[in-house]
Amino acid sequence: MLDNYRKKRDFSKTDEPEGGKKKAEGRFVIQKHDARTLHYDFRLEVNGAMPSWAVTKEPNDADRRLAIRTEDHPIEYAKFEGKIPEGQYGAGSVKIWDSGKYKNIRKISMPESIKEGKIEVSLSGKNLNGNYAMIRMKPRGKQEAWLFFRMKT
Ligand code: MN
Repeated sequence: MLDNYRKKRDFSKTDEPEGGKKKAEGRFVIQKHDARTLHYDFRLEVNGAMPSWAVTKEPNDADRRLAIRTEDHPIEYAKFEGKIPEGQYGAGSVKIWDSGKYKNIRKISMPESIKEGKIEVSLSGKNLNGNYAMIRMKPRGKQEAWLFFRMKT
């Protein structure tokens, strides 16, 4: 699950966690990542890893946001803040923008929801609180594009 994540990084040069140590469920984190392009990395703990999406603008309750699926991250990443050095993958600063617990509010499991391309979760964070959905759009090229938005109910 973390092969793609590890391949992109040199852990002798970046302080980011290598992963694979802890198992946990039910947390989410959104990290403000000031890399080449500023974005917000949304990650959900699922089965000991964190499926992740790069949300292209600051999430809010009014707007739909484009979210590009990225490689799964280790769950230790939920605590990571710091500076990824120049020349390393994702170089730039990482700050936790929001974090808390999430609950899957669909009747099918989270891995199944991701596979199906439709996620509905209740988030209890400081900035995001309530029910949010993510829907995978029709594939265009290599990237998996999803929409992230607050649910009406
Ligand atoms: Mn990022």
